[in-house]
Amino acid sequence: MEIEKKCVSLSFLGGAGTVTGSKTLVQINGKRILIDCGLFQGIKELRKMNWNDFPIDPASIDAVILTHAHLDHCGYLPLLVKKGFTGSIHCTWPTMNLTEIILKDSAKIQEEDAERANKHGYSKHEKTLALYEVKDVEACLPLLIGHNLDEWVILNEFMKFTFLNSGHILGGAFVNLYVNNESILFTGDIGRKDPMLLYPPKHIKEADYIVMESTYGDRNHEKSEDVKNEFLEVLNETIKNKGTLMIPSFAVERTQEIIYLIYRLKQENKFPKIDVFLDSPMGINATKVFHQYHSWQKISSKEINEMYQEIIFISDISQSKALVADTKSKIVIAGSGMIEGGRILHHLNKHIENPNDTLLFVGFQGEGTRGRSIVEGDSEIKFFGQFRKVLCNIRSISSLSSHGDREEIMDWLSKFNKPPKTIFLNHGEPHQTEALRVKIQHELNWRVVIPKLQESFELNQP
Ligand SMILES: [Zn+2]
Repeated sequence: MEIEKKCVSLSFLGGAGTVTGSKTLVQINGKRILIDCGLFQGIKELRKMNWNDFPIDPASIDAVILTHAHLDHCGYLPLLVKKGFTGSIHCTWPTMNLTEIILKDSAKIQEEDAERANKHGYSKHEKTLALYEVKDVEACLPLLIGHNLDEWVILNEFMKFTFLNSGHILGGAFVNLYVNNESILFTGDIGRKDPMLLYPPKHIKEADYIVMESTYGDRNHEKSEDVKNEFLEVLNETIKNKGTLMIPSFAVERTQEIIYLIYRLKQENKFPKIDVFLDSPMGINATKVFHQYHSWQKISSKEINEMYQEIIFISDISQSKALVADTKSKIVIAGSGMIEGGRILHHLNKHIENPNDTLLFVGFQGEGTRGRSIVEGDSEIKFFGQFRKVLCNIRSISSLSSHGDREEIMDWLSKFNKPPKTIFLNHGEPHQTEALRVKIQHELNWRVVIPKLQESFELNQP
């Protein structure tokens, strides 16, 4: 895909018409910058796109800028490097640490999937290869460059940018890119109006162009007055039943939010006497990053220092097995967040058919996942090669999310002093993006464009 290089152009190489694989190319006078480098995830048709040839020569890209460390924004990096990219990868300091954790986990899953496919002969003719391996991740880590928020980074004679707090996950940032004195604001994912641990998304006064996500463009989160008390009710139910409470949780942000809720309840002397285990090597590694970056969080250093102290960390596999075998009443936080793999499966294997035990969902459950099946009331789910009856209690706190909803996004947009020339909506399913387009045009009367995958736009046209 060759583009006329005289003016500024934007090309949507991923994250258009879908919520995954975010990649937007900015070009001017032969300089090429990629904003985010995400993996396509979810259904097979999307995942297959990761195997396609990259639409331009990765060696011709000068630099990558990451908005945050989620896999759909950074997960393609090892492949980009494998295919010839050698430039710098700019990100905030916490994003740098979290990206390493998330990419290594992703590589491990790719390697295990390939190994399983080869062992069971899913592919009859050829050996199944992993999309990338841990060694590919190792090769891209030296290219990462950390930055603070609000500092100017000069990329070349035409381009400079700053990271601005997005409130989405630790280290998450908007990219405020200036190209020849015109600004293009890339939101990545936008956080909640009032995040539990992080500072709220920064209000921006103006931008010439905005490229904004639309994941929650068609809906609002369930309003909960008091997440803490909702959680306490589930805890008390577990105590009454003398059961085990299993919490499948995302390793970054949600796990730390749950630990913070536990800490707050302990501070208020409301927390029952029960042990809490974090049985997730990835969750433990991510928690260390949260422990490292106090000033990036709105909660106090005292709280950060104290909140993780009473949680029992289980990283060793033999300890994990012993924990599964232990019959005493307890709380276990484990990955993966949508029960697609990880240690939560072993706990579920032990407890799913026991009506005294409880499975608590604390995050969004994607289509086609075991988590979604259970939330939707399926009476049986399959794992470890067998169907198992869902007889334990199923609870969920659905108001927890790292994404701003439609109301919060509209509120954030309303703080701009003047309309941008164009707002591009990406990173959403078609119905979500379309709903947000209608809302923005109706309420703000802005020019909205919904780019298609691989579509390019020339900016600065006379
Ligand atoms: Zn995200």
